[in-house]
Amino acid sequence: MTEQHEPCLICERVTLERSGQNPYFIHEFEHSILVIGNHQFYRRYSLILLKKHIRELHELPPPIQSALFQEVMLSGQVIVNAFSPWKINHACYGNSEPDIHWHLFPRYESDPDHQGVP
Ligand SMILES: [Zn+2]
Repeated sequence: MTEQHEPCLICERVTLERSGQNPYFIHEFEHSILVIGNHQFYRRYSLILLKKHIRELHELPPPIQSALFQEVMLSGQVIVNAFSPWKINHACYGNSEPDIHWHLFPRYESDPDHQGVP
């Protein structure tokens, strides 16, 4: 597992969220933090930020891959329970910020293009 230590926006956000002073914070899991997205084009858009700076999912040891996936699934379930969206889109890109984070896009039939790609 390659862990780099250069600052990135995801790591800065994790540090900020863990300071207890950020209103976007929702929950801290063992390996990640669930936060509300700054931009709410999709209502209740949230992110899961891995606490360590790791670029690729395959670089994680398998037990952490599984645990992180469970944290992503639990976050999606909580969003469904709370807001009853029509669908949830899960996305893990890391192209502009190469540090593992998942986007959770709740989609509603009332969205302008609810069958489109975020
Ligand atoms: Zn980082």
